[in-house]
Amino acid sequence: MKATIIYDNTTLRKDLRADWGFSALIEAKGKRILFDTGGSGSILLSNMRKLEIAPKEIDEVFISHAHFDHTGGLSAFLDQNHDVKVWVPHSFRGVKNAKEVITIKNSLRLHEGIYSTGELEEIEQSLCIETQKGIVIIAGCSHPRMEHILSAASEFGNVYGIIGGLHGNRPESLKNLELICSTHCTRYKHEIMFIYPERYVEGGAGKVIEI
Ligand SMILES: [Zn+2]
Ligand SMILES: [Zn+2]
Repeated sequence: MKATIIYDNTTLRKDLRADWGFSALIEAKGKRILFDTGGSGSILLSNMRKLEIAPKEIDEVFISHAHFDHTGGLSAFLDQNHDVKVWVPHSFRGVKNAKEVITIKNSLRLHEGIYSTGELEEIEQSLCIETQKGIVIIAGCSHPRMEHILSAASEFGNVYGIIGGLHGNRPESLKNLELICSTHCTRYKHEIMFIYPERYVEGGAGKVIEI
């Protein structure tokens, strides 16, 4: 799989805009999935253009949770390409202008090797991708407890790593992971970096991770 961070609180490239929020392109199993859409449609589309990601080439959109910094760019994206399937958690309603909207409550296999944890703690779902090294979790903010996210993801296989916002989850909750790319709203980023220097990967808009 390949993950390209499009939208993040920080950026690795001067030509991309940093802004509070998160979005990434996930390419896996022949699918191109836009994970979350950041807070602003204009920043999302401008960063996509600079990363040479054409909205028309996206097959599906996966929304982790209803917070504005993850859904704010959705309608602007759908104006560019409404011929997509949109996977939303149960608590997020009102997506218009998409080919198909699928609401997820419980854990679900979206495609061969691509899963949702289901909406955990009535707030958020994470995307799980099967790789040769194990399951890689893509998370929006990780509002549910990390233990809960990890146990839901481990239904699909041995969990290898996580990419995304980790909110206030304690570094100890990540001890069994081989790859930790903590982005966006991660409160204990410095502690994570310090405790797991070999497993820590710096995020930011423009970051590409291939596993
Ligand atoms: Zn967030
Ligand atoms: Zn959030």
